This record gives sequence, C-alpha cells and structure tokens, in this order.
Amino acid sequence: MREPVPGASCNARRWRFTPFECQQCGECCSVIGQVLFISRDCGDGRYILTNRYTGEKTLVEVAPDQAALFGDRTTTERYPEACPFLRFRREDEKAFCAVHLTRPDMCRDFGCWRLLILKPDGSRAGRVMGRSHFCPDDADLARIWEDQVRDIEEPGDESWIRTVTSLLTLAGYIVRQ
Ligand code: SF4
Ligand code: SF4
Repeated sequence: MREPVPGASCNARRWRFTPFECQQCGECCSVIGQVLFISRDCGDGRYILTNRYTGEKTLVEVAPDQAALFGDRTTTERYPEACPFLRFRREDEKAFCAVHLTRPDMCRDFGCWRLLILKPDGSRAGRVMGRSHFCPDDADLARIWEDQVRDIEEPGDESWIRTVTSLLTLAGYIVRQ
C-alpha cells in the first residue's frame, strides 16, 4: 500500500504491460511498524514518522478525508506491527495510508512485485517477487506454475517474463508488471 494510487507506475519495463496498480491489500504496511514509528505528535494531525534503522524523519500529515478512518483504531488492534498510519476500511477491507500525500520516500519508491497475475474478474491470483519467487493466491494457478512455469529457463529476464506472460495469458490470466 505504499503506492496506493491506482495507475501509479513503479517500474520502467512497460513495453508489454500496463502500469503497476496497487490492490490495496495492505500487506506491505502491515509489519512495517517494526521500522517506522511515530517519534513525535506535532498536533493538528501532523506527526514525525521516524525510520528506526536509518534515522530518517518525515513530517507526515493525516489527510482531511482520512481523518475519520485514522481515528478508527481497529487496524492497530488487529495488526499491532503495522505502520501506525495503515487503516483498513471496514466495508471492503481495502487498505489506506492515512498520510498518503506526505508518506516517506521509502514508501513512494516501493513496488511489491515483478509480475502481478490476475484472474479474468480482476481478483489477484498470484505474484512473482524478486527474480522468480512465486506467491500464489489461487490453487489452479499454483498447479500451472508447478507444472508449466517453474522450470522455464530463458537466457534473459525479459525473455523469461515474455514467455511466462504468454503462457499464463493463454491459460486465461491477466499478467501485469
Ligand atoms: S502489498 Fe502491493 S498491492 Fe498490497 S498494498 Fe502493498 S503495494 Fe499495494
Ligand atoms: S506511511 Fe503509509 S505507505 Fe508508508 S508504511 Fe505507513 S501506511 Fe504504508
């Protein structure tokens, strides 16, 4: 959720894919409280958010349209290790950053996958992180990955992505980068 603006781009390799689109699942912010913590309450919805390891401090401000959601502490009770500004909306469980416009650079720079694999209805079926680490959300896709994708050897990164994309597209999935 560190780049929760639909359509925001996080990767230069766009020659074949649509831009990165955050699904607002909140996973990326749900344990980052071990790194980011509020070191000062400056009042009026402004806080100093400090990186425990780098010492970097960011003045963040709760957006007026997020104030009510920020006041709901359910998220911090459910996810005690979450960033103090992560909130899940009750109606649909979508994640929001209460300080999205002023969030730290590390959050702006974050991209959570190399490939996002969606079912035809747009729901998430799986992600590829790092070089080729596969995280499935869908049993059918997990089987296809195991049987047809896992052992694919290609000479280069783009060639591997191209091959995997066309194979999964043929299987009915939507692949995004
Ligand atoms: S893990 Fe990825 S999809 Fe989920 S909220 Fe974070 S950036 Fe968005
Ligand atoms: S500041 Fe916002 S984007 Fe960054 S970790 Fe916290 S909730 Fe996520």
